Amino acid sequence: MKLLNKLIDQCVNRASGAYKGYLSPKIPKQFTIPLIEEVGHGIDSIPALLHKRLHRDMPRLRFNTPLVICDAITREIAGKKLLKQLEQSGARPRAHIIASNSYAEVEQIFELALKRLAQLESPCAISSTPFDQKYGAIKCGEKRFDIVYGVGGGSVIDVAKYTAYKLNLPFVSVPTSLANDGFASPFAVLNLGSDGTMTLSANTPLAVIVDIELIKSDDSGYQRRIRSGVGDLLSNLTAVLDWKLADLRGKERFESYSAYLATCGARLVIKELLAPREDLFYSAQFLEILACSLMASAEAMSRYGSSRPASGFEHKLYHAYNELTGFKLRATHGELVAVGSLFSCRAHGQNLDDLTKAFRTIGLPIDEAGLQECGIEREILIAAVAAAREVKPGRYTILEEGGVEKLLTALSEIYPAKPG
Ligand SMILES: [Zn+2]
Repeated sequence: MKLLNKLIDQCVNRASGAYKGYLSPKIPKQFTIPLIEEVGHGIDSIPALLHKRLHRDMPRLRFNTPLVICDAITREIAGKKLLKQLEQSGARPRAHIIASNSYAEVEQIFELALKRLAQLESPCAISSTPFDQKYGAIKCGEKRFDIVYGVGGGSVIDVAKYTAYKLNLPFVSVPTSLANDGFASPFAVLNLGSDGTMTLSANTPLAVIVDIELIKSDDSGYQRRIRSGVGDLLSNLTAVLDWKLADLRGKERFESYSAYLATCGARLVIKELLAPREDLFYSAQFLEILACSLMASAEAMSRYGSSRPASGFEHKLYHAYNELTGFKLRATHGELVAVGSLFSCRAHGQNLDDLTKAFRTIGLPIDEAGLQECGIEREILIAAVAAAREVKPGRYTILEEGGVEKLLTALSEIYPAKPG
């Protein structure tokens, strides 16, 4: 089957003279890091920027039939603008609106994207979990599109990224939110129905283009999205402490450059938060640092080849908590990993002064009231610490080192329960 797919692929691509995306693209789709990473303010034309950057090395490369995936809100904020830019560049774009990050959305896009021969599948190229094996096979067949743009927040980016991976097409990430590092990472969080919500391996984007003007917003959830992004970023500090510990115990090799990439942004952001500027949430400099730092975090994962540089005990805790709520989490990913990170930091015996001050400035939880404000319930949090042992059991962290008791003690010291 593999050989047959390759043969058809060669015929389709050779006959057409341009990449039609049957199986293997003419340009490598599986990048270690994105080929283009750009943070700008009011970018005139995203396709023009892409073309300019790619043209130098691949002068004949054209993307004529882009698929733009957005949701109803991000279509208005940024999708329409991008569609217009694509039309102006001579392409024939098509928009597809999604409502959630469910796998059903991904399947709907296959219907739209595949012209024929859709019954063939090529085995999963990246397989790290049973879920990757189950859901990750590459869809073969001639396609209606030659590139996928994801324009939106986490759910949109995840669906678009995963669809592009399954269709074996290049992916351009255009985030409208900085709530976590997923917009530049090689992973997609999808709701797999009866299998729950899972993180699946996908491809690193071809390009990540952050326009700060698309990020800024005056809607009621804006500040929460920013503080969530900060929370996800700061949690890298304990993820790397866990990684070092795993190395010390001979469980996993530590790689200092990936660790540096994952944590340098966190340190920069803490510095910003210790001397906060006026109008912090709308400061161009602060948002630029946050965007670049989240990109660096994602790049660290891509380089290392797993989420290890940005995912330790605090991320295991997040997955366990999410499952205990039946995947109906009220806190955001960034808020929950930030909370886990703060008491993990205590369990590691680190000084918490600067981290706590940074949490206070940005509005991340530092006490019981903060937990409640984010919708984090103490009983579930306590249960999640124990349940976290079942999440990624091969990943050695402070939980495996010190045991549940150590983490629960740290939790009660950092977030003491209110008397009565
Ligand atoms: Zn995360």
